[in-house]
Amino acid sequence: MTEQRKGKDVPERVVIIGSGPAGWSAAIYAARANLEPLVFEGTFHPDMVPLGQLAFTTEVENYPGFPAGDVRSFTESAVDKNLQYILQPPPEEETRDGRPHYAVMGTELVLLMKQQAINFGTRVISEDIIDVDFANRPLKVIPGNGDPVETQTAIIATGARANYLGLDSEEKYKNKGVSACAVCDGALPLFKGKPLAVVGGGDSAVEEATYLANLKDAATIYLIHRRDELRASKIMQQRALDHPNIEPVWNSVVDEVLGDEKLVNGLRLKSTVDDSTRDLEVGGMFVAIGHTPNTKFLDGKLDMNDKGYLRWTKAFRTNTSAEGVFAAGDVADDYYRQAITSAGTGCMAALDAERFLAEQS
Ligand code: NAP
Repeated sequence: MTEQRKGKDVPERVVIIGSGPAGWSAAIYAARANLEPLVFEGTFHPDMVPLGQLAFTTEVENYPGFPAGDVRSFTESAVDKNLQYILQPPPEEETRDGRPHYAVMGTELVLLMKQQAINFGTRVISEDIIDVDFANRPLKVIPGNGDPVETQTAIIATGARANYLGLDSEEKYKNKGVSACAVCDGALPLFKGKPLAVVGGGDSAVEEATYLANLKDAATIYLIHRRDELRASKIMQQRALDHPNIEPVWNSVVDEVLGDEKLVNGLRLKSTVDDSTRDLEVGGMFVAIGHTPNTKFLDGKLDMNDKGYLRWTKAFRTNTSAEGVFAAGDVADDYYRQAITSAGTGCMAALDAERFLAEQS
């Protein structure tokens, strides 16, 4: 735990709750503006950890600035020959298919963001915030363990957690063929050319199935749904159902994820109509049955939509329903949910907080 801001009776200027890409990006910007942000990074829970969803991901290949593959040739080709002296030596490279390969790992990426924020003077407390008072000024955030902290502004960046089916075998094969994000993980070599399953019937499931089906070398993508009708919007479901690589599997739930201890190699499906079971050969399972935003501690304190996501109250701004409180990342976004969009709104929230403070002084 780091020390409080100097001068005990002075409220913090910016408190950031959450430690994924949104939280650290907000911290980098707030710290660079000399606001000495204080981040509550959270503690470990079974489905929620400090550093957010990225900490559950392996290689990240779509975050700009972190190309995967032969990093040395990539940088050499991207940077003018005369400027190559400014490049750091590339990180230690692995070999994949006989070629050098390195991709930044999810945890590594977000730890780099954290370090970047700390380098500019961000202070970090490893506690959950369990309650807040946003009705009075200064604002107050209440940690699970420790004294309440007063602050002039707060940035909520607690993210959303992917819902999983809750099977032991699913837990066992996370990062070994089980994922909750096809856009993040679907193009990894682990899944290349293999039949894959997407579980769910909403827009996310059909979008993820379509994404996987359009990848180079895609094999059959099974769309496994517990009913015989999709919940997804008509246009998106038609696109998926008309796709030659997508095969719907109706009235079925996953009973067990099968594997050889190292990787997924199949699913045991159970019928929702007659309880019969059958095995399906797949090299991966993408769970797309919705997300749960981490907003329970804000119940009744900030406006949320019917699914518990925080509402941004001004177009193209990160304001919430409480003055001086801003929201960034997946906690307010059930649509894009990417590390890069979270980082972007984290930056916006810090700039909004900075301007709010400037207007108050
Ligand atoms: P969703 O609409 O809540 O759909 C969740 C799906 O998972 C439903 O089909 C549900 O089945 C199924 N499901 C839930 N729990 C399950 C379980 N335990 N076992 C098996 N299946 C289960 O969630 P979403 O698809 O993530 O979409 C969230 C929001 O984002 C929606 O408003 C959506 O329109 C939006 N979105 C939009 C786009 C787009 O427009 N491009 C893309 C993605 C998401 P039932 O249908 O039987 O309930």
